Amino acid sequence: MFMRLAKIYKQTDFDLEYEKFKKIYPDAAKFLDESDSLDRWTRAYSPRSRYNIMTTNGVESINARLREERQLPIIALLNSLQTLTTSWFSRYRKASVASTTNFTPPIESILSERFNIGRGYQIYELGRLEFDVRSATNSDITNSDIVDLESKRCTCREFVIDKIPCSHAIAASYFCDVNFYSLCSKYYSVMIWSLASSEPIYLVLNQNEWPLDDMLVLPPVIKRRRGRKKTKQISICWRIWRR
Ligand SMILES: [Zn+2]
Repeated sequence: MFMRLAKIYKQTDFDLEYEKFKKIYPDAAKFLDESDSLDRWTRAYSPRSRYNIMTTNGVESINARLREERQLPIIALLNSLQTLTTSWFSRYRKASVASTTNFTPPIESILSERFNIGRGYQIYELGRLEFDVRSATNSDITNSDIVDLESKRCTCREFVIDKIPCSHAIAASYFCDVNFYSLCSKYYSVMIWSLASSEPIYLVLNQNEWPLDDMLVLPPVIKRRRGRKKTKQISICWRIWRR
């Protein structure tokens, strides 16, 4: 229920669900209220776009994959990272070349799912590219969302946060004969996917081949702490997440 709350887009929907959460899990809600503010863990109150990334699973996977390598000296670690990322890039390059769609497979599947949901909506034209979209099963005014195709916004907030048209926007675009692919961020396209993995990554050269010239490179100044050395997790992404 906590994860579901974190992923809600609209603040009004969040407030409603959070009240239910408080009744079911009062201790957890008290902990959340006292320890963190809503903008740190909810999509609805976050001042920034969080897209679909709501966990650190990606970082955990890399940490697990590099469990042995993390113990290596720095150059051996960098070279093993090169081997790993090069194999991923090669796989992505092949997949992007073989792709017959405009957008990456996960985005195509989201668009197809939203298109099917949008087939059940009733569309009311408000302006040239502005629409009131209502669920056909419950077409009362409280169940409507306003879509503006020009500014790529919808009151459900999925469109503006994810940069992928929501089911309302897809239904509205179909209604007024606009290609809904044109409403999707180019960063989800196969072309960008292919470009992201196009640069080769090279191994670190042998030390005697380093182009140092007259440069004097000294090891960094570090202060050793007393006690047992702890294994440290690579937490670059975590820091970005908490920024
Ligand atoms: Zn919407």
